[in-house]
Amino acid sequence: MAFCYIFLIVALAQIIYRIIKTPRLYKEQYSVILVILLGCVIGNGIFLIQNDVLDLSVIVYGFAGVLIYYFAVDFLPHKLKLDMGTMILTKMNSAFIFFDMDGNCIFANNMASSLFKYHSKGNSLKNFLKIIGDDNLSADNQRILEIKGEKGTMYFLMGYQRFNDNRQRYLGCFFRLDDVTEETKEQERQMYLATHDSLTGVYNEDTFYREARIAIDNNPQTPYSLATTNIYQFKLMNDILGKEVGDQLLKDIAMIIDSFNGPGIIYGRLESDKFAICSPSNLKLVELIQNKIDEHLAELRKNKNISLVIFNQCGVYEIQERNISISTMCDRATMALYATKGDVEHKINYYTTELFNRMVLENELLAEMPKALKEKQFVIYFQPQVDSRTGKIVGAEALVRWKHPQKGMIPPGVFIPLLERTGNIYELDCYVWAAACQAAKKLHDLGYDVPLSVNISPRDIYSADICQVIFGLVDKHKIEPRNLNLEVTESAVIKDLTRMNNIISRFREKGFHIEMDDFGSGYSSLNTLKDIQVDVLKLDMRFLDSIKGSERGEKILAAIIALAKSIEAPTIAEGVEDKETVDFLARLGCHNLQGYFYSKPIPYDDLLKMLDSYEIGALE
Ligand code: C2E
Ligand code: CA
Ligand code: CA
Repeated sequence: MAFCYIFLIVALAQIIYRIIKTPRLYKEQYSVILVILLGCVIGNGIFLIQNDVLDLSVIVYGFAGVLIYYFAVDFLPHKLKLDMGTMILTKMNSAFIFFDMDGNCIFANNMASSLFKYHSKGNSLKNFLKIIGDDNLSADNQRILEIKGEKGTMYFLMGYQRFNDNRQRYLGCFFRLDDVTEETKEQERQMYLATHDSLTGVYNEDTFYREARIAIDNNPQTPYSLATTNIYQFKLMNDILGKEVGDQLLKDIAMIIDSFNGPGIIYGRLESDKFAICSPSNLKLVELIQNKIDEHLAELRKNKNISLVIFNQCGVYEIQERNISISTMCDRATMALYATKGDVEHKINYYTTELFNRMVLENELLAEMPKALKEKQFVIYFQPQVDSRTGKIVGAEALVRWKHPQKGMIPPGVFIPLLERTGNIYELDCYVWAAACQAAKKLHDLGYDVPLSVNISPRDIYSADICQVIFGLVDKHKIEPRNLNLEVTESAVIKDLTRMNNIISRFREKGFHIEMDDFGSGYSSLNTLKDIQVDVLKLDMRFLDSIKGSERGEKILAAIIALAKSIEAPTIAEGVEDKETVDFLARLGCHNLQGYFYSKPIPYDDLLKMLDSYEIGALE
């Protein structure tokens, strides 16, 4: 008996110790066990004092044993599990909200409270759906939720789940919302970088192609145009003013284009200074943008105090074939742009089928050029120059033609500008110079002392040491330099005065005569005369056409001829087609004439025949 009481006291002491020392949850458990034990002790006491009471000890102890077993073994893990679960949910970084079957909120963790100011007390599912702006919930799916709040736009990955019992009766539901703002913003940033131009912020090439396609397809009834832009001399400007200024200019242009934004308008930067704009044709956007960019460039030139000619140019493709790729449309617009590149008179140029055909032809010609040189398809014609006073032949200009096996005789106007533009003229000119030297030698050997003139293209002076090349040719063909006159254009001289001056001096020292071709067609003729020494001025009558009939114009032409005479440079008028012009020029003091009135450019054999019937004289 005593042993039992000792054991009871030890057990009670142990329980009391636990109650004092352990956390609340355990305190509750041990308190309940303590109360049961104390109940048993009290019951036992009552039973000992009052012997007449019915002995229920076995039932009471049995019941107490079950209770103690329950609280000692089952109650705690169950309660602990619940508490720990709640604790975890409360502290988790995601928002959790639970609703019962009537839509009353039964639980909202800390995150839910702080993010949505949503608490479990008195809140309903309806309220919550209002907060997330969604009233169309489909079960068990996940989606990104965008919520605008005090901290700006936030993104949540929302999961929604319904609970049913095993008989499929609805019990309630819960939401889990993970804050994915950082990840989503980073994703958006990556997406932005992948689709936009990092310098200007407009669409990049691929995105422009994609978006323009969508715009055109979505508006099948609307006529659309596609334009590309380019700043003439942008690279040079970059070199002169620095890359920062160039970059800023590109940003400004993007902003200008951006300021015309509207429905159905797509624009982007394709590369360097090339932007593309796809817009409904009736908006005439290209004209507006072109003007604005040019105004901006004019301002830039003024602010930076530069004389460099920079202007914007646009090529436009009015979209006829809507099914071709956007990149092909851009190519067509760019083709139109490059057809007039650098031509200040044509700042906006439209793509046409003729232009396309010309480009195709040009491409073919370029590809065929090496073979044509090898097969000597290029032939030289000669156009005599005649002194109108004496009727004597004073010279002849060598002019090239392409005797194409399929396309027939192609005039130089078709391929010379192309070869100049693409940097292929030098090879052809070398061929012509050699052919002219050969012809000059033959003429000399036949006793005709008539100089031949050859054209030197502006680009030739950058291709090699042309002095060496031409000195070599005259040596090789054993002709005198005075039998080969060299025609340089005024524009070439203006472009690089120092270089040209140096080349011309070397030629003149060697005994060559330099003729300034197309004199009067440029803008600074008098300046050029001051800076450079030439032997002959060639006036192109087609350029001077406007002068005829105008008293003032005639006076200017007369002054130019007199001026040339005063610096001992004879003039040759080109493009003289009729007697009236011959007389007109004679009155002004210009007698050396080249033109259809005397002869068209003719093959070498025909020139020989002409030389037989005309006398030969010297240029005066
Ligand atoms: P250019 O040097 O000014 O040559 C004169 C052009 O005027 C020639 O055209 C000639 O046929 C044309 N012409 C002469 N008289 C008359 C006339 O009375 N009326 C009209 N309407 N035209 C006349 P072409 O032969 O077609 O040559 C055109 C241009 O091609 C030349 O102009 C020259 O710049 C260039 N060119 C021709 N051959 C060569 C060459 O071998 N090398 C280079 N670099 N350029 C060349
Ligand atoms: Ca010429
Ligand atoms: Ca000329």
